[in-house]
Amino acid sequence: MVKAVRGMRDILPEQSRRWRLVEDTLAAVLTGHAYEEIRLPLLEFTELFARGVGEATDIVEKEMYTLADRDGDSLSLRPEGTASSVRMLQEHGLLFNQTQRICYAGPMFRYEKPQKGRYRQFYQIGAEAYGLAGPDIDAELIGLGWACWQALGITEMVTLEINTLGSGTARQQYREALVAFLTPLKDRLDEDSQRRLSTNPMRILDSKNPATQGLLVEAPKLPDFVDADSTAHYEGLKTLLSAMGIPFRENHKLVRGLDYYTHTVFEWVTSDLGSQGAVCAGGRYDGLVERLGGKPTPAVGFAIGLDRVVLLHELAHKDAPSDKTTTATDVYICVPDQSVMSGAMNQARLLREALPVLRVRLHMGSGNLKKQLKKADASGARVAVIFDAESESAGTLTLKHLRDAELGQETLPYDDAVGRLRREIC
Ligand code: ATP
Ligand code: MG
Repeated sequence: MVKAVRGMRDILPEQSRRWRLVEDTLAAVLTGHAYEEIRLPLLEFTELFARGVGEATDIVEKEMYTLADRDGDSLSLRPEGTASSVRMLQEHGLLFNQTQRICYAGPMFRYEKPQKGRYRQFYQIGAEAYGLAGPDIDAELIGLGWACWQALGITEMVTLEINTLGSGTARQQYREALVAFLTPLKDRLDEDSQRRLSTNPMRILDSKNPATQGLLVEAPKLPDFVDADSTAHYEGLKTLLSAMGIPFRENHKLVRGLDYYTHTVFEWVTSDLGSQGAVCAGGRYDGLVERLGGKPTPAVGFAIGLDRVVLLHELAHKDAPSDKTTTATDVYICVPDQSVMSGAMNQARLLREALPVLRVRLHMGSGNLKKQLKKADASGARVAVIFDAESESAGTLTLKHLRDAELGQETLPYDDAVGRLRREIC
């Protein structure tokens, strides 16, 4: 038998119900903040990510699924959404002299070591704002994340970390100072950090290696390099966050893996998922639009790692939240007499039309009434409708209440039966 590709996710019906709940909850929060959805292609030219994410990042260096198109173009499955969203908005003339607040959702692909909370196909929901330069929009986006955790009931499990990288120039100057400091110590750095020293030195701050962290104690500190404008922006953000009642922790070592960040960076982290600590990451990337060929445009955004958020949701709400989300069926129509199947199909259609929120499943295959009622019970339905030749000729429905023995069974004219189902289930 052919198995799934390693790291690609199978999400089974029971898990899908939780995913749907989490996705719908987050979508409602995004809509409530008036962020508009865009849909991005899964495939882009590899060059978009090389330029947009950065050649020296883990993603571009070793995590992309890259393939040659039949005409020889190099394409990559998207490893993240921001480069694509800039490309899309730019290509359709939606950035210049305008502001945009957009969101996107869907699978991303990275060739990494699969483990709990880390997959090769994983899901992100992102929110981004273009054309707005102030700390207020940074705060709005962080507030949007906070509203997501509140809506999901997981605020206790996540902590906000923030930092500022300064302007592009400040970041460059710090990078040089860090390289000058670490180069003589190169032999004492861990292997990854040695490589990063020439490619992406600020990522060394992220190293989990204790010896490397030991060396960093004496290293130049990022806050000493941050320019006055950036500091004012950062202070503005902190004031707004405090006013919004959002707790945060400053982490001067938070630099983020992607090349394109400037000024504000932030992460929502958890200690409930082992080493997969980040559930949402973002920041400001004022240089990105220009880097991808557009006019300079301030931009800020984040991406939520949905797989990890679903895991947190599972920890916070072990039982799925309500019947409505734990079962797939509200009404199960039993058809003990196969000769009235076409009437039963019609009946199912009418019920779905009359009560659109109802999830109606029609029994298929044979089986006597007792067997069919067993299936009805196992489906989680609250009511079984028994549809036989008599129901068809008399225009009635027999309802059997499966979850409340006292209500028992009743045969009602069709319209009354619909009213009964509406009261009982909707
Ligand atoms: P990490 O340090 O965990 O690799 P990252 O910095 O590479 O994360 P981002 O590119 O910022 O992650 O993506 C935003 C969010 O997407 C992360 O905070 C995380 O929740 C989620 N994410 C990233 N990579 C994966 C993955 N392979 N599997 C599941 N979720 C992921
Ligand atoms: Mg990563």
